[in-house]
Amino acid sequence: MLYLHIPFCHSKCIYCDFFSTPVASALYESYIDAIGEELTLRIGEIASPSSIYIGGGTPSILPLELTEKLLRIVSNHVDINRVREWTIEMNPEDVTPDRLDLYRSFGVNRISMGVQSFHDKTLKRIGRRHTADQAIRAIELLQKSGLNFSLDLIYGLPDEGMEEWSDSLARMLSYEPAHFSAYLLSYEPGTALYKMTEQGKITETSEQLAVAMYEHLCHEAAARGYQHYEISNFSKPGHKSYHNSRYWDGTPYLGIGCSAHSFTGGIRKFNPADIKLYINRLSNHETVFEAEPETITEQLNDMIITALRTSDGLKISSLDRFPPHLVNEFMQNMRRQLAAGNLIGTSDRIVIPERLWLRADAVMRELIL
Ligand code: SF4
Repeated sequence: MLYLHIPFCHSKCIYCDFFSTPVASALYESYIDAIGEELTLRIGEIASPSSIYIGGGTPSILPLELTEKLLRIVSNHVDINRVREWTIEMNPEDVTPDRLDLYRSFGVNRISMGVQSFHDKTLKRIGRRHTADQAIRAIELLQKSGLNFSLDLIYGLPDEGMEEWSDSLARMLSYEPAHFSAYLLSYEPGTALYKMTEQGKITETSEQLAVAMYEHLCHEAAARGYQHYEISNFSKPGHKSYHNSRYWDGTPYLGIGCSAHSFTGGIRKFNPADIKLYINRLSNHETVFEAEPETITEQLNDMIITALRTSDGLKISSLDRFPPHLVNEFMQNMRRQLAAGNLIGTSDRIVIPERLWLRADAVMRELIL
């Protein structure tokens, strides 16, 4: 699995805690060159990837000629014939037939687009640059292009009541995307949203409303034949995100670009979240990442946390490779959560029931060591 991070955005959305910088176009080309250098140095850390994901930031912000340069660099480092899924994230305002044609000509076969809401007032409030009409035009272009696509929505947005959420969800579902993601807004320290909430300018959605929104989401998705296969992800049968599903099953991945993480050779590696430092290290041919070997306990905890985000849950026999004293401790925690009804167990598997996924973090905290 190969991930590439493009850290540029037109402006900063108020809720965003991804590593991204508004408008740094002078750095675009040297950044793409640094990505090429890092790929050359590090592609050998993983077997030939079967999935590629270009995320951000806003990868679709790059002008077409630099986009072409980036796609060519990737194609020169990867055997594209072995790539089953190649996704690029797009923002609605960047979707044009030319851009989609360019992506497809290199083998990109999936677009992930952040719509977030179909209400202009809310979009403006959270700092999105597009309008609902732009999102609709972009979806129509995606439909015409024949590319596979996924749409993102957020619920629990500032002042968004049940009626507005239900309308955004219905409008998104009316386009029948094969895949969509729906996230409950989270208030991350360091974001403008967090500060505005502290200052009393925004009131956090009540837990009761968030739960009602989540239940409505699950109900509507199921009624239209979607599988809820991960806390925030829904797909029509056969359309799960191949790339993301492999993160959740613990497959090694190589993350290229500033702030990207990798998990290769049993070691977690972290690239600097600083564009200039990232470019400088690569132009000096220096090692770009910091490595952190994981303890066996951390590996077990990672496995528990990633697997229990999904409807497949955790396969108990997959714990066989861990020392018995750790597995025994986990089993005791697991039995307590089973007894409390926070887990459902089958012969060799445990899952967190869908109705509790909104508070899955709390259940996982009780399970990990
Ligand atoms: S476009 Fe995406 S990455 Fe950029 S600021 Fe908004 S949420 Fe963050």
